[in-house]
Amino acid sequence: MPYSYDNQNIFAKILRGEIPNDTVMETDHTLAFRDIHPQAPVHVLVVPKGSYVCYDHFARDASDAEIVDFNRVIARVVEQEGLQADGYRTISNAGEAGVQEVPHLHVHILGGRPLGRMLS
Ligand code: IMP
Repeated sequence: MPYSYDNQNIFAKILRGEIPNDTVMETDHTLAFRDIHPQAPVHVLVVPKGSYVCYDHFARDASDAEIVDFNRVIARVVEQEGLQADGYRTISNAGEAGVQEVPHLHVHILGGRPLGRMLS
């Protein structure tokens, strides 16, 4: 199914520099910044700079370079934020059922406290 991308979404505005953000890491293809309403002591959002709505859109249509870069940024943020020792969680919500609020792919990285069981 083709995805249609809304370039007025808030992360598109952040990527265009129209809205400020608390940047944690930036590469050619990827931006990582702190969530404005953190759910844990560490709550970072990792977004590709390309116009992708959600994870399967990105994984299907992005270049290998974008996909590698995105995943490497996640790994580097985990390391930089010191999350390896105690663990962390990555989440990417998609669509209505996934309760995705912002229609630009983002992976949440959460850590710094016990996060509880999500799936049983
Ligand atoms: P979603 O429900 O997975 O789409 O999560 C969207 C996330 O974006 C939420 O955790 C919001 O707190 C976060 N958010 C919304 N606007 C901003 C912003 O301007 N800066 C940083 N985070 C934001």
